[in-house]
Amino acid sequence: MSARRPTVEWQVCGVCNYDCSYCIQSPHRRIGAPSAEDVERFLAFFRALGAASPGAPGAMPEPRAWEVKMTGGEPFASDAFLTRIVPGLIAETPHVVSVLTNLSASEAELARFATLTRGRLGIVSASLHLEHVEPSRFVDKARALRAQMDPSASLVVNTVLVPGRLAQVLAARALVQAAGLRLFPQVMKIGKGVARYADDEREPLAQLLGRAPTPRDANTAPSWQGRTCWTGVDYFVLTQRGDAWRCRTAKRFDEGFLGNVLAGTFAPAPAPTPCPYSICPCTVPANRGMIDMIDLSNEKEALA
Ligand code: SF4
Ligand code: SF4
Repeated sequence: MSARRPTVEWQVCGVCNYDCSYCIQSPHRRIGAPSAEDVERFLAFFRALGAASPGAPGAMPEPRAWEVKMTGGEPFASDAFLTRIVPGLIAETPHVVSVLTNLSASEAELARFATLTRGRLGIVSASLHLEHVEPSRFVDKARALRAQMDPSASLVVNTVLVPGRLAQVLAARALVQAAGLRLFPQVMKIGKGVARYADDEREPLAQLLGRAPTPRDANTAPSWQGRTCWTGVDYFVLTQRGDAWRCRTAKRFDEGFLGNVLAGTFAPAPAPTPCPYSICPCTVPANRGMIDMIDLSNEKEALA
């Protein structure tokens, strides 16, 4: 088990330049980006979050660095991403910056991101969407970014295991691994559950997922129901409109609302509680140590 690493997953925008058939966000929600005024209010919130740790009784409050993992939509599709959001987080807060991106940004934009985040980058989760990109071109871009970014940071290529297309994923994995990168497979989610795979896909599925994968190895959307979970306390999901939720599943069930950071009503949960859900579709909380009793034995690997 690993120590908890406080993390906020911030959906910096809804807009995305792709339209993947398996996207868990419906097209009518994949729109919008915060106004310049709201970007400033988000940055003010992150400044306050970084100074929020009360420390020991009687002691001065100490800055507390969170990991701010930015998602979308596609974060680079937001005009403010490289001009204000990333520079502001680096210059004005103590936080570590991570990003989930489809890597469609230009080489120049990715190089700018690598430069801006040097010394403060956590993880780049690069999503390989085989419906939109040619794998070798994607791998070239990922390799170039890997070479430019913080040596101590991680870059992981993730991809969705779409039923009927596992051979494509296996071929892409060979390219990713040949480039010295790691492929993080994710079972496909549908509604509140996972997709069904045909019987003749068991073998390729096993090749991709491995034996008894932990959240470090793959996203199999397991159930941690009943385990003590610290999401809401040391982890939360933040939407582009400022709404904060305990975790993605809680948001989906319209539960675990923590207030709105733009309205100044955000308040984290006071204590961890047992997970009430039968599916945990995102590995970020598990890989940041939010769920008690998970053995993440291969700690050496990058996080997804
Ligand atoms: S790139 Fe991501 S957010 Fe955009 S459509 Fe594809 S899955 Fe959805
Ligand atoms: S679904 Fe996952 S992140 Fe959400 S409460 Fe349950 S264990 Fe925690």
